[in-house]
Order: sequence, then C-alpha cells, then structure tokens
Amino acid sequence: MAEHESLEFGKADFVLLDNVSMEEFMANLKLRFEKGKIYTYIGEVVVSVNPYRAMNIYGRDTVEQYKGRELYERPPHLFAIADAAYKAMKRRNKDTCIVISGESGAGKTEASKYIMQYIAAITNPNQRAEVERVKNMLLKSNCVLEAFGNAKTNRNDNSSRFGKYMDINFDFKGDPIGGHISNYLLEKVQCCMFCLVHQLLRGAPDSLLRSLHIQKDPTVYNYIKVGGQIKSCINDGADFKAVADAMKVIGFTGDEIQTAYKILATILHLGNMTFGVDGDVTLIETPKLVSVIRELLSTKEENVEKALLYRTVATGRDVIEKQHTEQEASYGRDALAKAMYERLFCWIVGRINDIIEVKNYDARIHGKNTVIGVLDIYGFEIFQNNSFEQFCINYCNEKLQQLFIQLVLKQEQEEYQREGIPWKHIDYFNNQIIVDLVEQQHKGIISVLDEACMNVGKVTDEVFLQGLNGKLAKHAHYTSRKLSPTDKSLEFDRDFRIRHYAGDVVYSVVGFIDKNKDTLFQDFKRLLYNSANPVLKGMWPEGKLSITEVTKRPLTAATLFKNSMISLVENLASKEPYYVRCIKPNDVKSPLLFEQERCRHQVEYLGLLENVRVRRAGFAYRQTYPRFLQRYKMISEFTWPNHDLPSDKDAVKRLLQGCGFDHDVAYGKTKVFIRTPRTLFSLEEQRAEMV
Ligand code: ADP
Ligand code: MG
Repeated sequence: MAEHESLEFGKADFVLLDNVSMEEFMANLKLRFEKGKIYTYIGEVVVSVNPYRAMNIYGRDTVEQYKGRELYERPPHLFAIADAAYKAMKRRNKDTCIVISGESGAGKTEASKYIMQYIAAITNPNQRAEVERVKNMLLKSNCVLEAFGNAKTNRNDNSSRFGKYMDINFDFKGDPIGGHISNYLLEKVQCCMFCLVHQLLRGAPDSLLRSLHIQKDPTVYNYIKVGGQIKSCINDGADFKAVADAMKVIGFTGDEIQTAYKILATILHLGNMTFGVDGDVTLIETPKLVSVIRELLSTKEENVEKALLYRTVATGRDVIEKQHTEQEASYGRDALAKAMYERLFCWIVGRINDIIEVKNYDARIHGKNTVIGVLDIYGFEIFQNNSFEQFCINYCNEKLQQLFIQLVLKQEQEEYQREGIPWKHIDYFNNQIIVDLVEQQHKGIISVLDEACMNVGKVTDEVFLQGLNGKLAKHAHYTSRKLSPTDKSLEFDRDFRIRHYAGDVVYSVVGFIDKNKDTLFQDFKRLLYNSANPVLKGMWPEGKLSITEVTKRPLTAATLFKNSMISLVENLASKEPYYVRCIKPNDVKSPLLFEQERCRHQVEYLGLLENVRVRRAGFAYRQTYPRFLQRYKMISEFTWPNHDLPSDKDAVKRLLQGCGFDHDVAYGKTKVFIRTPRTLFSLEEQRAEMV
C-alpha cells in the first residue's frame, strides 16, 4: 500500500476497496484519473491510465524519490516496479520480468521506455557510456521494429500488431551489457507492409526509387489501393529517414539495408502482376515485371516465371511440374508477397539480436549474468467481428492469466511457509480449463484446426467448425449454434463462442483455414534460396531442400504460435514477475475524457477484478514488524512513543489486540498479515486522527 497520498486521490491500491465490485473499481479509477493520478496498484501490479498529456513525473527528481525504496513507501509509479525488479536482480540475484499489457494506444510502449529510462538512470554512473549505448541500441531497435510491425493508418492511428519480449542482460555490477528481442507477429501483416511501402514511396530519394523501378505515385500500385482507395498512412516521409538512420546506427550493412528495400519493391511489383489463360496454358500478362523482379531478386528470369506458374509435386518417386490455374497463380503471388514481408521482419529481429547480444564472453560465462525481461503485449481483445487473430491474442492472454495465477499463488504459498502461517485455500477462477480447450492435444481447438487443414478432401472453414462441434460438444466453455440452437447471436456454419476468463467472445471461422496453413509453395522458397544475393539467400535456408527431401509438413501458424506461447510462458515462469496493466481512457486522445463504458470493458478484459480477488483472497496486507510499528505506533498507548515489550512482534500483537483486530490477523516470523482491507483502513483512520 502506498503512503504519502491522501484519500482525496482515492485509494492508491485497489486491494483497499471496501467491496470488490465493478462500480467501486471504476469510481476509484475515474477519481484518480481526474486528479491526475495515472497509476494505481493492485498489490504489486501497476494499473496505468494513459494521461494523453505530458506528465511531470519522470524527471531526475522523481527517479531519486524511488531509487532503492520499497514499493509501498511512495505513491504508485512505474519507477517503483522498475526499482523492485532491479533490486530483486541486484540484491537477490533473481531474473525478473515486467509484463505490460493493454490494448493499442493504452501506453504499453511508453511504459516500457520509462522503465528502461529508469534503469539506465540508476545504473552505475561510471559505466554510463556503455549503459547509454546498450539502451540506445534497444530504443533504436524499437524504432525499426515499430516501423516494420506497425500499421499507422488514418482510422487506427497506431496499431502495432505484434507482441514483443525484450531481455536486458546485466553483469555482476548490475550494469546492462546487452539484450535480446523476441517478436510475436500477430496480424495485419499486409497492412504493415502497405504502410511501410508507403513510407518508402514518400520518403526515399528519387535515385533509390529509380534503382528499384518504383514510381512515386502510390495510385499505380494495386497492393496500396485495395478496394479502390489509397490507404493513407501518417508520418511516412519523416519515418522513412528515421528508420533508415536507426538501421545504420544499429549496425545493418549497406547491402542488408539495400536488400530490405529490394524486398519491399518486389512486393509492390508482385501486386501489379496479372495472369491470363490461353487455351489450357496459364501465362503472365505483365512480362516486364518479371524482368524487374528478376533484377531485384538477383535471379534468372525463367526461374521467376516458372515459380509463378508451376509447382513441383512429388508423386511417389516421380517429380512432376504442375501448371497453376490462373486463380492458383494469383493466390501464390499474394502468398509470396506476404511471406517475403514476414520473413524480412523476422530476419530483422534476428540481425538486431546478433548485434545487441552480450558480446563480453567473460561476463557471459564467468560473472553472474542476470536478466530483466520486458514483455509488451496485446491485452484481451474483442471486436465486432473476431477472427483467427483475436483467437490467438486471447489465447495468449489466457496463458498469461494462468501464469499470473500460478505465480501469485506460488508466491503466497511460499511466503506463508517461510513465515510459518497455516496455508489457507484461495478461492478464485482457475482458467486452466480454457487453456486446455485451446491447446490440448487431439481435442483442443488448435488440434482440430490443424486436422481440418490436413484433410485430403474438403478443406473448408465449415469443416473445421463441424470438427469443433464434434469434439467439444460437452465443453463448458465452448458453444455454437448447432449446440445452442436458440442462441440467435451465433450464425450457423460460421460462429463459435468461447467463454474466456475475461468474458464471452464469438469468433467467426471464416479465414481460419487459410490463415493457419503455410500457403507458400516450396518452389518460391527454392527461388529465393537460389538468389545470387547472399542476404536474401540467407533468409530462406529451407529453400535448399529439393522436392523429394521435403517430407515434413511445415508447422501451421496456430501451432507455431502455440509453441512460441508455451516457451514464452516457460521463460516468464522462471523469473520473478511484475505487471503493468494499461488502460486507454478514450479514443480521441483527450487528457480530460474518461469514457466510462470503454474503460469498464478494458477493466473486464484485463481481468483486473479477478486480480484484486486473487490478491485479497489470502491476506490483503503484510508488513514487517518494525515497519508496521513505525507507521502505527502512535495509535496505541503500549507502543507510543516506544514499547517495553520483549520484541517488536509482541508490541504489534499488543497494539492490534488493543484495537480489537486480533481475529483478522496472523503473526508470522518476521511479518504481520492482515486479512481484510477494512482493518487496515481503520488503522489508517486512527493514525490520521493522531498525526
Ligand atoms: P501502445 O504501445 O500501448 O499502443 P503507446 O505507448 O504507443 O501505446 O502510447 C500511445 C500514445 O499515448 C503515446 O504516443 C503518447 O502520446 C501517449 N502516452 C502513453 N503513455 C503516456 C504517458 N505515460 N504520458 C504521456 N503520454 C502518454
Ligand atoms: Mg506499442
């Protein structure tokens, strides 16, 4: 619980609410936002509301106020969390992680920057140059990743569609020595791609555009004017330069940057490529583009042509070349554009990691090398129309919630044991059942989806839905129209509904199959692998395999995502976690507007009430005896100004007995535990009367 804040600002910790109800939660959140208190705790979780204005709370003086302090000694702040993580690492040699979640625009990325800024500010001044270098690298990589992974469109001004996990490594002195980034690309690959290409068109020098055979006029390019409309992206011109500079500073070579441009240009040209038929022959109607693409990809013209029009298939021992239909050729072309973009993005992340990884082998092998991880990831998401992407994001949030529950419970349990307090069962909703619904072998939704994709006969989204209905008919958290015939909110042959821990979500199966399958023909992978450009070649190692060597099916998108979530959670589970939950108060970036309904949704989907319940289920408050006395000794004649009892523990006992709170507390070896917040309030009130 945070001190130094009067009650006129509401409660600094939601754990202290009289009742854990949505009404009280929202009233407190709103009051604090209006009073300019953007941070509030739930125990050790920071809830943050985007202020949409510059706050004078991140300066050097604030850093000094939080440095080395305990969480509850100062008003809630990101710095307190960053300091707790840093202390755990430095004093106790623990790896820690900070999980930042919330919807787009809620302030996640800003929060991660403030956390890094704080860590840089408190690390050893003698090492500051090196610290600055590492921090600079991490921030610059942020800029590049945001450019490649964000879609800045007019409608939704900043929708980064990926989650990002960043490790910062520290040496034995507690100074940053390197880092590592993992990315979880989620969706709108195409949208990001268009915006980046747009940046290229507006910001790149004419000579570069000429060498890429690109015209400045975006209306020329089909991929940019989907649906007859030019998608406008903001800030493109300036961003292009910033990204190009950042790539240089990070250490990308000229060839690498050139290759990135060539890939973007190739994608644009691919979008303008059309196919036709002559008798039973499929042909390319835009041969000029083939020669442009050949040049950009440093390969042979006939190879490009062949990869676009044919696929190699192995039938038993024979290898035959099968001609695409016009439709298949168009489909392959779009899949190629999308895959090249995705691969470029992953490759960039990989290169950044090569550059920022811990180089000092001494530090890596000998010294103790500890880690603070920062996860910047999408919160629970529900739209009018929810598809594969929301399914993945929400599954990810179920995993994180499960981890949260396990860790909080585990931490509680361990502390009770240490303190010699009998374990009390904690009542909360365990969402493991929903995690299983999604990821279980054979009958989980992902397994059913993969199975539907492998069908030899009909592979359609409806077949997938039928599979789900067959396998999950009895599952308490799954339903569909077939299973609930009277439920008009579900469309036959299209929808299913999951009861998530944070609420019900209806998903449409349309597009699930397509988005799940690896749609890229092997012929394209070979084409890119055989490029004379070593950078491009390096991005496509699997193109090395000939058709007869390709035996295994590539993993599906859902399975890849599942695997990455499982290893992310394993990684986080090995660390001491801290949480930041970000809320976006309105859609118009106003510093004054607190849209009640909008915020309530987020509180619901972030599972904040559940957080408070889990936190309160055991003991709401705990404190060491000396500190407890320090704060409350003035309310009892036995302890003011000093006590003459054998120990502080005895003194605290006497104090609480005197107030009649003995029934609501437990006395551990070093700490007193208070079960209900009301007791603590009462203590606070009595204290306020005295001081
Ligand atoms: P997210 O990463 O969650 O999509 P951002 O961190 O990019 O969101 O925040 C979106 C915008 O909100 C920022 O560009 C900034 O203008 C504003 N903002 C977010 N957090 C703060 C803050 N702590 N103080 C002031 N402005 C903020
Ligand atoms: Mg962001």
